[in-house]
Amino acid sequence: MNWTHPLCDSDGDKLREECGIFGVINAADAAAATALGLHALQHRGQEAVGITSFDGKEFFSRRGLGHVAENFSGSEAIAELPGFMAAGHVRYSTTGGAGLRNVQPLFADLASGGFAVAHNGNISNALTLRSELVGRGAIFQSTSDTEVIIHLVATSRYPTMVDRLVDALRLVEGAYSLIVMTPEGMIACRDPLGIRPLVMGRMGPEGNGAIVFASETVALDVIGGEFTREVEPGELIRVGLDGQIESLRPFGRHSPRPCIFEHVYFSRPDSVFAGRLVYAARKAIGEQLAIESPCDVDLVVPVPDSGVPAALGFAQQSGIPFELGIIRSHYVGRTFIQPSDSARQSGVRRKHNANRGLVEGKRIVLIDDSIVRGTTSLKIVEMMREAGASEVHFRVASPPTAHCCYYGVDTPERSKLLAARMDVEPMREFIKADSLAFISIDGLYRAVGSEARNSASPQFCDACFTGAYPTSLTDLSAQAGDAAQLTFPGHKAA
Ligand code: AMP
Repeated sequence: MNWTHPLCDSDGDKLREECGIFGVINAADAAAATALGLHALQHRGQEAVGITSFDGKEFFSRRGLGHVAENFSGSEAIAELPGFMAAGHVRYSTTGGAGLRNVQPLFADLASGGFAVAHNGNISNALTLRSELVGRGAIFQSTSDTEVIIHLVATSRYPTMVDRLVDALRLVEGAYSLIVMTPEGMIACRDPLGIRPLVMGRMGPEGNGAIVFASETVALDVIGGEFTREVEPGELIRVGLDGQIESLRPFGRHSPRPCIFEHVYFSRPDSVFAGRLVYAARKAIGEQLAIESPCDVDLVVPVPDSGVPAALGFAQQSGIPFELGIIRSHYVGRTFIQPSDSARQSGVRRKHNANRGLVEGKRIVLIDDSIVRGTTSLKIVEMMREAGASEVHFRVASPPTAHCCYYGVDTPERSKLLAARMDVEPMREFIKADSLAFISIDGLYRAVGSEARNSASPQFCDACFTGAYPTSLTDLSAQAGDAAQLTFPGHKAA
């Protein structure tokens, strides 16, 4: 079908974002801790970063394009952000959505006072809500889906901030982990299915036990904090300026559906997600892959960095030596979404290089976490052959990615997904491998510590592999009916 997702620009590249969020309250050096925490979450978004702080009277914000270190390493930057409460955000989006006005935390002066919000996830009915709000006179400042939350809170008639936020979130579909700051304190909350992660912790003794929220546990590690627990799916936690913590469950109880791709690719391997160390899950995925699709070769070679833990698991399970047959340059940015295929391909070549002496004359199996468009796999298979490998097999630590994610993981539009266009054998031909196999969905579930997938009520969100979207996708259905009215200003309709 020839459609452009309503959150895509005319080239089909998305304006949705991948993000990491961090917040701390009642800490002497809240902005500095936030900068450190965001640094540990940099892998969740490298294009822009922002921090907002509150000193009991005023809010202060600083945002910039680029990495955390480029924007927040100097003491002057932190000095601009005084106060005992701060929240920050790192984001990745494609060119069209990357302007400063979309950099979070978003901030607004509401009738009740300042309101800052940092959001990880994607609101899948943002365009519908936005067009309703615009129809009622709302003036939007950004093209970020998150801004609808601010307008919904601003226009809610409930008396308290928590009630207004809950009122707003009841209208919102999709995935959201949020950190909100108001003059009354901090609110952290996770959507009813808990699609995107959010954890709670405390700063160590020197931080006086200040309360911290972060996308991943690794952000707690870097500030010397302690993990308390996950913010539970559908839970809203309010922390007052007096340190009082209140947990609410305004959305009732639902079966959680955390994103399984956090385990496969997105989270850092040293984070704990959904009760399991991500590194251990990735290794177990590799072991399971070796059991399901063994390969008679001389070497197991990871596609670095994302394929490394799975390749270790594959090697240990199969008894085949693990070798770094590809070396990755750490000084090249993301190759995944670039404006054009040729930019992407040269990006892959600059990023990975064959360790020729190792692979020459060897039969190898390459392990990567996923195949999306097939750009990386094709280039790497070719690179291994040019380096003299006698056989090049490919094993993938996730099932075929055949569907778009509408919940905050960047995937290109569906027509660009290799697995949406072809079965495994044509994919093998496309990437020019001697054999190709993907882990089964049940194998993936078991490897991440779950039972086999319960198809009536899956334990994870695995929509990118199965197409089983756990929420309604109002904007998509609406787009089919009335595309023109649902397109962000300045972006072409399909
Ligand atoms: P592709 O070249 O389009 O097939 O992309 C596959 C490569 O992109 C793999 O090496 C993955 O590690 C990586 N990858 C998969 N999903 C994502 C994502 N959401 N963001 C960035 N990189 C990704």
